[in-house]
Amino acid sequence: MTNANVGRGAKPSARLDPQIFFWQPENGARHAIPGAHADYELGEQGQSLCGQPVRIRPAPESEWIAFPTCDKCWQAAKSLLGELKSVRPRLW
Ligand SMILES: [Zn+2]
Repeated sequence: MTNANVGRGAKPSARLDPQIFFWQPENGARHAIPGAHADYELGEQGQSLCGQPVRIRPAPESEWIAFPTCDKCWQAAKSLLGELKSVRPRLW
């Protein structure tokens, strides 16, 4: 049995896919963090799309409700997803 530390301590940038990010409440706003949530350890620090350090943790539901979405992250996320949507499927 190998004690493989897959993903543990690995920099999230190692498998950074610009189309993958998740939201995390921090400092009064919901920020988007690049990567997959599973790439991070709880308590690990990530960096939001707006450049703010965000600690990965289970956020209480009250924060999800009370915190507004960070506008910079939203704009960044939108442009990331917008690049995907700009390739429109042809319907006719
Ligand atoms: Zn942000």
